Amino acid sequence: MKVKCEECGETYTLNDGEDPDDYICECGGKLKRETFLRRTALGVGVFSIPYGFIGFSELTLGGIALAVILWFNGKDTSFDDAPFMTKVIAVIAWIFSLGTALILILSSLLWHVPSTMTLPFFMVLYILDRILL
Ligand SMILES: [Zn+2]
Repeated sequence: MKVKCEECGETYTLNDGEDPDDYICECGGKLKRETFLRRTALGVGVFSIPYGFIGFSELTLGGIALAVILWFNGKDTSFDDAPFMTKVIAVIAWIFSLGTALILILSSLLWHVPSTMTLPFFMVLYILDRILL
């Protein structure tokens, strides 16, 4: 698996089953698993769900498809090391989830959609992030 130093950004490769917590970087920094692709997968998956509720189920299905592809291709892989197609999918998924997050925030601020309708998506994302990553 790929791990990255939180301090200097240096990356290392560990054998599967090794714990990043058992090692430190040459600079003394803590090593963390690469989670950008999987985090993006969670984001696009969760944030595609609201579109289903407002009748755009194609967007929901598309988002979930992107999430599944990224999840399985993004295991312990950094963005830089990913194959070109995975990078393209990651960028699309990242823009999609960021855009939807903005729409959700704006809809509660500007159009007074109750936060009880938008907050759950952020909470689900946060919980999945803590459990799965
Ligand atoms: Zn370092």
